[in-house]
Amino acid sequence: MENDPFAVSDYRGRFAPSPTGPLHFGSLVAAVGSYADAKFHHGKWLVRIEDVDVQRTVPGAARHILDTLEKLGMEWDEDVIYQNRRYKIYQEALEVLNQQGLLYPCTCSRREIADSSITGLYGFIYPGTCLNKPASTKNAHALRIQTPDEMIQFQDILKGFYAQRLRRDIGDFVLRRADGIYAYQLAVVVDDAAQNITHVVRGADLLDSTPRQIFLQRLLGYATPHYMHLPVVTNAAGEKLSKQTNAAPIDTANALRELVAALRFLGQEPPAEILDGDISSFWRWAIQNWQVNRIPNGCDRKP
Ligand code: GLU
Ligand code: ZN
Repeated sequence: MENDPFAVSDYRGRFAPSPTGPLHFGSLVAAVGSYADAKFHHGKWLVRIEDVDVQRTVPGAARHILDTLEKLGMEWDEDVIYQNRRYKIYQEALEVLNQQGLLYPCTCSRREIADSSITGLYGFIYPGTCLNKPASTKNAHALRIQTPDEMIQFQDILKGFYAQRLRRDIGDFVLRRADGIYAYQLAVVVDDAAQNITHVVRGADLLDSTPRQIFLQRLLGYATPHYMHLPVVTNAAGEKLSKQTNAAPIDTANALRELVAALRFLGQEPPAEILDGDISSFWRWAIQNWQVNRIPNGCDRKP
């Protein structure tokens, strides 16, 4: 431990679920990975409810997720924050970006974007239609940010070197939708900074969002945290577990088994007898024996 470069008590990690349904095994893996890594480094672990998109939020889901985390013995160190109470803060950040002359209104429909864009590795690359031919702001419009051509790169703790050129690979992206909803990319950056997060541990489905987030951090004058992207859990059809793919909720009547399965998915090798103990003996073992170098960092896989 003494020689571990990350063994610092100012470690601040977080788990940031979207309350679109109950916790499932995929989100449990992110929770367990972020919790074990934070506690191994004697750090703090925070929980943030990412309910910025009210249309996707399911009433009662946030409470259900928090109850489940409690039953699994995962205690957060500071008050939970809720994105739907923070719109003013996102608007302020948007204004800072606007003062830099980087935002522009966009009135393109999904259809227009689909018809005019090329498809990149991560979806449609917006061709800048409304940048070149400014849209009227009288009607509902989204706000996009102009992306730079230069390479944005970082070193992921598990995945290693990762880089994108946002203009080429992603295109100008939306920070506030036409219905007024702030985009995940903006809210996550503002909140990771507001909570002084030093280590972001989350699923690798968000790896390709990270350069966009680093870009926004730089413009807003925020520090960039360390990133560790965990393998994503897929179902038998190879799809990421999610509400959309009907992932089963975590069974809190079998809390210990669920935790052990998540820990094993992360490549850790608890002894079989861990199942004879209880939740606190589980966590004692999981934290003391946490080894990042055992986490598989290759393809996404089934549990
Ligand atoms: N709210 C996002 C999700 O549930 C996670 C965001 C993050 O960890 O940055 O997929
Ligand atoms: Zn447009």
